[in-house]
Formats: sequence, C-alpha cells, structure tokens
Amino acid sequence: MYYIAQVDKDICSAKNCHLCTTYCPETNCINYSEQDKSAYISVDRCKACEICIYICKEVAKNDAIKMQWIGELDEGFVIKKSGVVLR
Ligand code: SF4
Ligand code: SF4
Repeated sequence: MYYIAQVDKDICSAKNCHLCTTYCPETNCINYSEQDKSAYISVDRCKACEICIYICKEVAKNDAIKMQWIGELDEGFVIKKSGVVLR
C-alpha cells in the first residue's frame, strides 16, 4: 500500500484559495467542496507526488495538506477490483 495526500479541512477552510486544485497533475484528484469550504482528495486517484503539499505550504502559505498512510485514514477504505474506495 502507500501514502496519499490528505487535506485538513479546518486549516484549508480558513484560506479558501483553491490553489492546489489547479496544480495537481491527476485529473479529478483534488476537488473543492463549496459546502465544506475545503479542498478534498480522491483516495483512488492520488499518486503521492506531493506537489499539492508544496503549493499549499509555499505558495498558499497555509500548510493544510499532509501525507498519510492509507491504512490510517479516518474514513477507512476497502479495496475492490475497480480500485480503492472509502467505506
Ligand atoms: S492550497 Fe491549501 S489552503 Fe488552498 S485550497 Fe488547497 S489545501 Fe486549501
Ligand atoms: S500528492 Fe500529487 S497526485 Fe496526490 S493530490 Fe497531491 S498533487 Fe495530486
């Protein structure tokens, strides 16, 4: 298994900048929830390149994204033939 990027919604929502969503090289990997006022990452699409971490920390100056071991996601996950999905 592997690490993936995870957004801290409380930290992200304080900035409301959307920057990371425009720099992630994977299509539909980071999206922005207007309801939560936070970016969020699709577990099955993240390739752990860490570009979003650089953008958030160094460009947005917010440090809302961290790498997290997939087995320790708060939401949990299951593996299906079609990919990894959250419980
Ligand atoms: S760059 Fe950081 S603060 Fe901006 S939307 Fe992404 S996670 Fe949130
Ligand atoms: S680590 Fe890379 S692939 Fe994963 S969300 Fe961040 S920019 Fe996208």
